[in-house]
Amino acid sequence: MGFENVGKVWTPQGLQELLGTLTKPDWCDSVTLHHTAAPSLAQRPDGFTAQHIKNIQSFYQNQLGWSSGPHLFVDDDQLWGMCDFRRKGIHAVSFNKRSIGIEVLGDYDNESAKTGRGFDCWKTAAAATKLLLAWLGLPANAKTVLFHRDDPKTSKTCPGKKVEKDWVLDLIAKADAEADDTAHAKPALDVTLKSTEWRFVGERWCIPVRVYLLKRGVADAEIAAKLKKTPAGFHFDDELLEGAFYDKDSAMTWAPARELIDLV
Ligand SMILES: [Zn+2]
Repeated sequence: MGFENVGKVWTPQGLQELLGTLTKPDWCDSVTLHHTAAPSLAQRPDGFTAQHIKNIQSFYQNQLGWSSGPHLFVDDDQLWGMCDFRRKGIHAVSFNKRSIGIEVLGDYDNESAKTGRGFDCWKTAAAATKLLLAWLGLPANAKTVLFHRDDPKTSKTCPGKKVEKDWVLDLIAKADAEADDTAHAKPALDVTLKSTEWRFVGERWCIPVRVYLLKRGVADAEIAAKLKKTPAGFHFDDELLEGAFYDKDSAMTWAPARELIDLV
């Protein structure tokens, strides 16, 4: 099944946090942009709902016989999941094997991409594209940002005659996501952590305190004695670990990596 993320919806910030928990795939060298054409903006005056996305899944599965679909659908301000970002999707014959597919709500052969709701949708798409490229470790350029119509095997105009590559690349460069901001880069550690031991929370890369300190050679008993929660927050000895939190799922206390580097 390739519809793992149907029913999930994110803001760009939420998507960034999710990607921080996922290992990037080794098959992907680009993001491919599409427009939905039908439905158009006029047909979705309030953007997508969860039911709309389920209906699209049903169309792909039952009418087209597809085992998967594009990875993401974008409307004015939200990102709707379809298939797992780590797995190959189905959206453009020549690009499925190497590219993450994003569908932008609207018909940009006929509707404006540069004003009103069309512009909002494209700004949201640019933010999502920027985050995905940052996750993949790729720059944004004409080779990493593909349009469906770049596929020699299609005669479609997708993502619409009113959308030019240079304009989209400029939007990506200006996108709010700040994916290339140094604050969003993982801090360098002198020990190695698994990708599941990094989480992007509250605008900072966080790691499990105990796992990190054990790797730095701090004894378990010392960690247990010094890691404390007070009304002011988590402390290690008398250092306040600003931004630290207890996570029930992992049953561990996490803290921003930058707070821990100088502890020992
Ligand atoms: Zn397309």
